[in-house]
Amino acid sequence: MTEKDKDEVALQRFVEYIQIKTVQPEPDYDSAMKFLKNYAQELGLEYRAVTLDESRQACLLTWPSKSSTETSIVLNSHIDVVPVFEEHWMVPPFSGEIRDGKIYGRGTQDMKCVGIQYLEAIRRLKAAKYEPKRTIHCLFVPDEEIGGVRGMGKFITLDECKALNIGFVLDEGLASETDVFQVYYGDRSVLWIQFLVKGKTGHGSRLIENTAAEKAQFILNEMLKFRANEKECLEKSEATDNLIQLGNVTTVNLTKLTGGVQQNVVPDQYSLYFDCRIKPDGYDAFKEFLHDVIKRTPKENDDEVILHYVQDSGRVCITDVEKPSWWLNSFKRTCEQMKCKTNWTVFPAATDGRYLRGEGYPAIGFSPMINTPILLHDHNEYLHKDVFLHGIEIYVKLIENLTNGKSA
Ligand SMILES: [Zn+2]
Repeated sequence: MTEKDKDEVALQRFVEYIQIKTVQPEPDYDSAMKFLKNYAQELGLEYRAVTLDESRQACLLTWPSKSSTETSIVLNSHIDVVPVFEEHWMVPPFSGEIRDGKIYGRGTQDMKCVGIQYLEAIRRLKAAKYEPKRTIHCLFVPDEEIGGVRGMGKFITLDECKALNIGFVLDEGLASETDVFQVYYGDRSVLWIQFLVKGKTGHGSRLIENTAAEKAQFILNEMLKFRANEKECLEKSEATDNLIQLGNVTTVNLTKLTGGVQQNVVPDQYSLYFDCRIKPDGYDAFKEFLHDVIKRTPKENDDEVILHYVQDSGRVCITDVEKPSWWLNSFKRTCEQMKCKTNWTVFPAATDGRYLRGEGYPAIGFSPMINTPILLHDHNEYLHKDVFLHGIEIYVKLIENLTNGKSA
């Protein structure tokens, strides 16, 4: 197969994968599994479906090492994509149509590109008669876009996962709008909270004491004060050399506010919903802050302010990138060889990587897309075909360096 043929087939497989509607909330996982099974056959990889529950499976496409019992590497990607607002798209979002070199479609950045790039890198390494000294597992998991509880969250609890003897994991990152690749060694904790505040009700013409609104006001002020402080930290650092990035601050946003029945009735309760993303090492302090806010909220009885955790990822672990290791050496060597400028940082949202790090596996989030607008979850998500194909070249080098047995 010539280089041009390899590029053609890579683009073709990418478009085919985009065309499978693995879109939440009812992803067509069956078709995706069939596609991946055929792909495994085509590349001469071992294929295994792993049952997660009655309607969810992960799958593994494995290239076993014949020469070594070293720990393996896992190349992870999620199969599902987020919903679309079709009326805002220039082309049908599951067409994979290529216009001016740009491949359009839901999942072109997040993260069907990466799943295909792993496999196409393997196609090239196999064609070059490469023999890995570590076993390579391409892992495809469901449901990352809805929190991964039935996907990676389940997978890491299974014996099938433990049996992989994982030494290092590659997972998703984000596109970069500059020529600097983003490399993520951790995620922030996710905390979705609801404050339910209660108070006295009555006619809207009176001045009633101890209302729900006054408590809502206090809490909202405290939360937004916290937000303003973090924002200031981020903005101040932009003026100095000691650059803090979004992943290194805690963000707080009021995302929903509900309550009230009628214009002339003072509501007996309000609910305030916040989406909080907590910086590494900030989890315990943030929870203390929340309890302190409740304590200080003016009220007559304690049950007038109730805090409910809608989603709580818990403390997150980060991968140590200060300590020397074989995979870190391999990663950095690849970046040098491929002349990739990198920025090492914390992922501003949550990925499946947090589950793996929680089990103690080193994991790096990396999607090789530079000079590309960040369009994940956005209308008209696209990836330029040259960026996609260059990403395959980077993975060829990266997989080779991670599995050639050299540690320096
Ligand atoms: Zn993703």
